[in-house]
Amino acid sequence: MRRRRALAVATAALAGTLVAQPIAVAEPASSLDKRPVAIGVGGAVVSDTVESTKAGLDVLRAGGTAADAAVAVAATLGVTDPFMAGLGGGGYFVHYDARTGRVSTIDGRETTPAAGGERMFLDPATGQPYPFARAVTSGLSVGTPGMLATWERALKRWGTFDLGRTLRPAIEVADRGWPVTEQLREEIEANADRFRQFTSSAELFLPGGAPPAVGSLMRNPDLADTYRKIARDGTRAFYDGAIGADVAAAAQRPPLAPGATIDPPAGLLTADDLAEYRTIDREPTHMRYRGLDVYGMAPSSSGGITVGEALNILETSRLSTMDRTQALHRYLEASKLAFADRNRYIGDPAYVDVPQRTLLSDRFARGRACLIDPATVLTAPAAPGDVRRPDSCEPGRVEASADTAAHTNHFVVSDARGNVVSYTNTIEQVGGSGIVVPQRGFLLNNELTDFNFAPTQGDAPDPNLPAAGKRPRSSMSPTIVLRHGRPFLALGSPGGSTIITTVLQVLLNRIDFGMRLPQAVSSPRASQRNAATTTAEPAFVNSPEGKALAAIGHKYTEQAEIGTTAALEFLGGGLVLAVGEPSRRGGTSAGVVHGW
Ligand code: GLU
Repeated sequence: MRRRRALAVATAALAGTLVAQPIAVAEPASSLDKRPVAIGVGGAVVSDTVESTKAGLDVLRAGGTAADAAVAVAATLGVTDPFMAGLGGGGYFVHYDARTGRVSTIDGRETTPAAGGERMFLDPATGQPYPFARAVTSGLSVGTPGMLATWERALKRWGTFDLGRTLRPAIEVADRGWPVTEQLREEIEANADRFRQFTSSAELFLPGGAPPAVGSLMRNPDLADTYRKIARDGTRAFYDGAIGADVAAAAQRPPLAPGATIDPPAGLLTADDLAEYRTIDREPTHMRYRGLDVYGMAPSSSGGITVGEALNILETSRLSTMDRTQALHRYLEASKLAFADRNRYIGDPAYVDVPQRTLLSDRFARGRACLIDPATVLTAPAAPGDVRRPDSCEPGRVEASADTAAHTNHFVVSDARGNVVSYTNTIEQVGGSGIVVPQRGFLLNNELTDFNFAPTQGDAPDPNLPAAGKRPRSSMSPTIVLRHGRPFLALGSPGGSTIITTVLQVLLNRIDFGMRLPQAVSSPRASQRNAATTTAEPAFVNSPEGKALAAIGHKYTEQAEIGTTAALEFLGGGLVLAVGEPSRRGGTSAGVVHGW
C-alpha cells in the first residue's frame, strides 16, 4: 500500500519531464552511470561526478549516515573534480538532523593568514590594487584551508564512521584512476597556461606537456598517499604536521617552473595559521516563505541572507497567479535590491556588525518591494536600503560593487534515517590558485580574492575588506527547506555570486511556478546582481518572457551556462527525488540507494 502510494507520488513528481529526458528511474544503482535524475528510497546523492556519487552511495549502503557519505563524496570530488574543490579549499556544510528536527551548519571557510591585512592586495610598488588575474594565480590569494577540519567536525557531530573509512573510496579512485571526461579536459585546457607556470601543477595535469585525452585514465597517487597519511595520523598531519608544512611552503614559495612567465605576489600562509584554524558551528539563517521554512548559510556567506531577503521581497506579490513576465521582472528586481544590501552590509560577522535580523525581516522587505515598478527597470546599481529605517520606501545613496562568477561544486545527500546534507565546497576559481602542493596531489585555493581589494561602498564602510584572520564574504548558498517541520527540498549550486540567483530561481520555479524539480533545475537561468545588465543563458534571452522583459528595459549579457544545481525533493514515505543537471557542466550524477 505504502509502495503503491509512493509510486503514485514518484510518477507525479516526474510527470512532464520523462518525455524530454529519457531517464531510467528503476535501474539498480550498481549500474550507475551519469544520469541527472533518480528516484528511490534508502538515501540519495547528487554530485558532479559518477565516482563521487558512487562513493556516497557505497557509504550509505554500508550503513553510514548522510554526514559520513558527504565526507566520502567531498573527498572523492577532490580526486575527480580537482579544479572545483578539495583539501586545499573550504566550504559550508548544512545538515538536517532527523532525530532532533534541527538544521545546523558548519562554517569551513578559509581564513586570512595572520600576516594579512586591509592593504594586502595593494601592490607596494604602485599603491594600487593588484590586477585581479595576477592575484588569482599567486600564493597571496591562498587562505587557510578549512576543508579537512569541516569533514572532521561533521563526522564528530553526525557521523558513525571514522575519517579513514570515509576516505577509502577516494583513495581507491585516486589509485585506480578514473576516465578523463570532456569537461575535465576542457578545464585543463582552459588552465594549461597557468598550470605550466608551476612544476607540480604541470606534472599532475599536463602529463607529457599536454592535457590528457578524453577517455584516458587519470591517476593521482600523491593524493591517495596524502589521504592515507591523514587516515593514519588524523587531521593533525594537515593542520600541525608534514602536509601543513608543505601547504605553507607552496603558498609562500610556489614551485615556479623554469621559464615561468608570471611574477606572483608571495603568499603569507604559515604553519601557525594552519595550527590556529577552526571551523565554526553556526546557526543557519531562517525565514518563512509561503508557509515553508527556508534554512541557509549565515555569514561569512552572504548566501542565506541574500536568498532570504529576495524571497521576502517576492512574497509581497502572488507570483503563482501573475503573468510570468511580470513574475520574472519581480524576481530580477528583488535580486538586484537584495544584492545592493548584501554588498553594503554583509561580511565576516567576527569583524562586521551584520544587521541580519533586519535584512531578513518582512518590514525591511516591504520597504524594498515598494521600489519595484511593474513598467520600468530600476537603475543599476541600485542603492542599499537603510537598516535604521527599515520600512522607508526611499532609494538610498548609490554605491557600486562588482562581483565575479567563478566555480566550485555543490552536492546533496540524504540517508535512510532521514538526515540530509547540503554542502558547497570550493577552491574559488576553476583551478584555484593554479598551485598544486608538490607531492601532495591537490590544488591550493585562491579564496582570498573574494575580498574586495579596495573599498567599494563610497563613504560607507566596506564590510568585505581583508583583515588578519577574517573570512572572505562568500555567495555559497547550501539550502534546506522544511515543510511542516520535515525536509521538503535540499539544494545549492556553484557559480560565484550567481549561486544566490540560481538557488533563488530554482526555488521560484518549484514553489511559485509549479514546475517539477527536474524542470525547475534544467530551465534557462538569468542572474541579476545589481548590475546594468542581467547575465542570462541564451535560452532565457530568446524565450518569449526574455524578450518581453527586454521590452520593459532589462538588458542582457549572455553566458552559455549559469550554475550547476544539485537538489533533492522528499516525496514522503522515505521516497526521494534526486536531481542534477542534464547538460550544464556536461551533466551531473544523481543516484539512490534503492531505485524505484
Ligand atoms: N568563492 C566563491 C564563493 O565563496 C565560490 C566559488 C564559486 O562557486 O564559483 O562565493
